[in-house]
Amino acid sequence: MSLRILVTGGAGFLGSHLCDRLIAGGHDVLCLDNFFTGRKSNIEHLLGNPRFELIRHDVIDPFKFEVDQIYNLACPASPPHYQYNPIKTIKTSVMGAINCLGLAKRTKARVFQASTSEVYGDPNIHPQTEDYWGNVNPIGRRSCYDEGKRCAETLFFDYHRENKVDIRVVRIFNTYGPRMHPNDGRVVSNFIVQALRGEDITIYGDGSQTRSFCYVDDLIEGFLRLMNQELTVGPVNIGNPGEFTMLELAKLVLEIVGGSSKIVHLPLPSDDPKQRRPDITLAKKYLGWEPTVPLVEGLRRTVEYFRKEIQAG
Ligand code: NAD
Ligand code: UDP
Repeated sequence: MSLRILVTGGAGFLGSHLCDRLIAGGHDVLCLDNFFTGRKSNIEHLLGNPRFELIRHDVIDPFKFEVDQIYNLACPASPPHYQYNPIKTIKTSVMGAINCLGLAKRTKARVFQASTSEVYGDPNIHPQTEDYWGNVNPIGRRSCYDEGKRCAETLFFDYHRENKVDIRVVRIFNTYGPRMHPNDGRVVSNFIVQALRGEDITIYGDGSQTRSFCYVDDLIEGFLRLMNQELTVGPVNIGNPGEFTMLELAKLVLEIVGGSSKIVHLPLPSDDPKQRRPDITLAKKYLGWEPTVPLVEGLRRTVEYFRKEIQAG
């Protein structure tokens, strides 16, 4: 069945891949974005498609459409970008959630929230399961993002309990792949771009902190399965349980790219989580989902993308 689907943040890294999959599935897509971190180039191949509509709009301001499903992805995701204007970041999460939920309540659309592993903060249980309440500093530099996303989850569950809004909540763990912005500031894009340009690879701290990296195609498959099943409203972790230190990641990127970059160490930002790895038992059980692209393969594809981006200037 062809649906009318709103994707907020649809011109961003994840949003543009989601728009592609939805259009390929025969749906009509309304892509709402204010282009803070998104780019026209991510979606320009969709612009002539009659099933695709681009709306330049801020998710903070109310909007009215007739839709069957809503994916709420609008929010800067990289620490330098979400810390650039922290008050705007928290407003985007909170007001964006309220606006999407209000629309879902009126139209009876199913609404999906792109939440994050950051709701677990600097976790003291490992790996992280969905029933862990997290360890988040409420007043630090990362709080605008972490607490904004936590508040959005609260709003989703209150609208669900109070107004029977049909919700789905995904907790996304670090995801990478083509269409990340070269200046995004997240670790995978930084290391690859630095290696391709022959610049120093910047490890923050001693590089012993860990993250678990999911390739974008695997993640989007998880989104679609979560949105289109009836067993649970969430939250569900989607991520790749393969866990790597930042030092291991830097070495792997150097191995793939080659070149002469040196590893340098810079100060660790405050509240930087020491370890992160998803427990994906629920995703396996409810969605039959698990990642299929190993890190080395996903990195190869991402390196190819950045090589072309950099050559294109
Ligand atoms: P991104 O920065 O590439 O995309 C975010 C998109 O939202 C951009 O197109 C941006 O212009 C848009 N946007 C930001 N503020 C907006 C506003 N006020 N109104 C309208 N549009 C706005 O980041 P991404 O990696 O694609 O992340 C997408 C979503 O997934 C975000 O909500 C993020 O918090 C979540 N997430 C991503 C990851 C990851 O590893 N990529 C991990 C956890 C959660
Ligand atoms: N990081 C790093 N060098 C960089 C960018 C990030 O060592 O150039 C580290 C960062 O301190 C963190 C990890 O890589 O420990 C992941 O950072 P990212 O910003 O990608 O995501 P998040 O911290 O939000 O998981």
